[in-house]
Amino acid sequence: MSKPILRYSAIFLGVTLSGTGLLLIFWGLLWLSPAIIYWERGSSVPEQGGCLLPSGIVLLLLGVLWLMEALKKPEKKGVVGTVSCPECGRVVREDLPFCYWCGAPLRREGGSEEEKKNIR
Ligand SMILES: [Zn+2]
Repeated sequence: MSKPILRYSAIFLGVTLSGTGLLLIFWGLLWLSPAIIYWERGSSVPEQGGCLLPSGIVLLLLGVLWLMEALKKPEKKGVVGTVSCPECGRVVREDLPFCYWCGAPLRREGGSEEEKKNIR
């Protein structure tokens, strides 16, 4: 996930999701206002509007969460450190699982972030 394209597409997806969520909430409110009038009159409420508002809120929350996640990552991984390979001694990027010079695995004591996630 360190490639900028992935980061930007994640941000784009977050914006799209939030936008869709806002739109759905808007439509849900539009649907609900006549439904409330129906309800006050005591007649049956049309059910189409019922699911629009909650799904809009869920989508908006998802979008906001996605945006936060996408914006949070570059701060964490702002500078990619380098380590020297235990096999060949050449300098390789820290976030790689193996040395790209000799192919030796770069397992370290702390473990990478993804490995920590897998353990959880
Ligand atoms: Zn190596």
